[in-house]
Amino acid sequence: MKKILQDLSLTELENLILSLGEQKFRAKQLYTGLMQGKKISEINISATLREKLLSEYEDEPVKISEVFTSADGTKKFLFGLADGNIIEGVLMAYKYGNTQCVSTQVGCRMGCKFCASTLGGLVRNLSSGEILCQILKVNAFAGGTVEKRAVTNLVLMGSGEPLDNYDEVVKFLKSVSAEEGLNISPRNISLSTCGLVPKMYALAEEGLPVNLTVSLHQTTDEGRARTMPIARKYSIDEILKACAYYFERTGRRYIFEYSLISGENCDKKHADELIALLKGKPCHVNLIRLNEVKERNLETITEKQAYSFLGMLERGGLSATLRRQIGADIGGACGQLRASYINKNSGDKNED
Ligand code: SAH
Repeated sequence: MKKILQDLSLTELENLILSLGEQKFRAKQLYTGLMQGKKISEINISATLREKLLSEYEDEPVKISEVFTSADGTKKFLFGLADGNIIEGVLMAYKYGNTQCVSTQVGCRMGCKFCASTLGGLVRNLSSGEILCQILKVNAFAGGTVEKRAVTNLVLMGSGEPLDNYDEVVKFLKSVSAEEGLNISPRNISLSTCGLVPKMYALAEEGLPVNLTVSLHQTTDEGRARTMPIARKYSIDEILKACAYYFERTGRRYIFEYSLISGENCDKKHADELIALLKGKPCHVNLIRLNEVKERNLETITEKQAYSFLGMLERGGLSATLRRQIGADIGGACGQLRASYINKNSGDKNED
């Protein structure tokens, strides 16, 4: 595979340009073009430099290959990578701006029982530039520029476990928040993890105060281990300690994701246990009704039941919200779009 120019910071790009015998200011011009979502071949540089770069670097490491628009305005994207892999992402419009959901890996190896991203296991990590390019492309697609971004907020909640691809994800967080680039503040970025405790501590030390979101989904270690294999490695208690440390270091309130699964985690007993676990902590609970994945035998609950669970948490003193389901008509939750694409195209793949 060729190298990816968007993996480089402006300083690294300057060094590359100098090593190619060009003047340093060309790097800034190139960098600005890349940040506008352009291909190398679309940037106004000399033909010689363009050829030198194209002989070693991908022209377009991430392409938007399909766009689905929901009745509520949500857009889902399928992206093609240079090696033929497919990833997906979402752009959601809110009052305060547009939030993009990005993928950090092709597939995932965490094995959560309700999730479509992990069905085929982990294919590979994405590089920082491949993560960044998802945003560069969508920002340009939505009419944004570097100066006036169409993408204002980010959630690392697409396919993959961000902390399982730690180095590239941290590098990405630095590049997407770089002042000379898209300049998206870490405060407008949420990183979601299934709870890789040692990496949560490491992230607290990076000086990148992103919002930390942890997928909890259960109130006991046994219950959690049933749906999330990672729970056999790290306990809820260890997760809560790591969250407290994250708060101490960054001053950022942390968030728990809690997907409501019928018969699994949303009875009165679970509400009481959740309150006992989280009351008084600087956290927020995000409830989401399970998006049913056809390959999985788990069912969601009704909206009414979900509101009743929310009410129990609120009366118990927790800060909580029920996330509205958006874009449900265009392919549900994480990994479902890619999974259906792969199913649909598996015929042609077998012939390769
Ligand atoms: N690996 C990370 C981020 C990816 S998923 C993590 O585990 O947090 C983003 C969120 O969607 C997680 O909370 C995940 O548990 C949840 N999720 C995955 N599949 C889902 C589904 N089918 N329905 C509802 N939530 C789901």
